[in-house]
Amino acid sequence: MKINEFPSQTTRHRVRVKNIEIGGPDFVVIAGPCSIESREQLSTTAQAVKKSGASMLRGGIWKMRTNPQSFQGLGNEAIDLIREVTAQTGLGMVAEITDPRQMDVLHQVVDAYQVGARNMYNYALLKELGHQKKPVLLKRGFSALVDEWLKAAEYITIGGNSNVILCERGIRTFETSTRYTFDLNSVLVAKAKGPFPVIVDPSHAVGMREFVPQLSLAAAAAGADGLIIEVHPIPETALSDGRQSMNLTSFDSLMKTLEKVLLAVDRPLARPQ
Ligand code: PEP
Ligand code: MN
Repeated sequence: MKINEFPSQTTRHRVRVKNIEIGGPDFVVIAGPCSIESREQLSTTAQAVKKSGASMLRGGIWKMRTNPQSFQGLGNEAIDLIREVTAQTGLGMVAEITDPRQMDVLHQVVDAYQVGARNMYNYALLKELGHQKKPVLLKRGFSALVDEWLKAAEYITIGGNSNVILCERGIRTFETSTRYTFDLNSVLVAKAKGPFPVIVDPSHAVGMREFVPQLSLAAAAAGADGLIIEVHPIPETALSDGRQSMNLTSFDSLMKTLEKVLLAVDRPLARPQ
């Protein structure tokens, strides 16, 4: 389906991911480690974020690292860990696909595919994802215009899969004091111009865990449909993105404040059914 063929936006397009709906009245929180590192790390994180009110789990398997010497992810070894932990917790799972050849194994354990910022322009990958039915969480490329982001989404929908969720994760600007620049404008513009739910990734946007709560609350107040947040039991030891990962206690207190903001904007926190 082309973007202009979606029904008019009094009824926003909603995307069901396992037992939750994104883009409806409920606000969705996805949380988990940047990279899956071990059974214990994934399982401890999953149980804790669920208890705090997250309704989906995230975790990287094949990482798109800028430095080829950096940890590249556990790869296939992570697949069984996801199977175990999602069975244990009942949480839906989102993980990044970096190559269409991963789909055969990944489809067994994920409820939504993440397309990372570096792959937003990978049209071969987007087309493949358009030819299957699972939802796609499409991150904005860090130098992409909102229109380019929406057109990337259309690469997926045109193939027959209308289950696209957009994710703002920060853009590259002249500013170097934060990892990227958090662009809340794009959330409003993307929602006004397209039919898709839009969530926000404050962890990658700012790159420092102490600022993740404030940006999360701002996004919720501004009308984002959800958050994806990096959480690690011991962020200081994380094999990727430790600096921006929240520990379990700070994530729990963020969720408590978030509920107050959601109450003010009349949006319930999603609870998996
Ligand atoms: C991630 O989610 O861990 C990630 C690599 O994100 P991005 O593609 O936005 O950099
Ligand atoms: Mn990360």
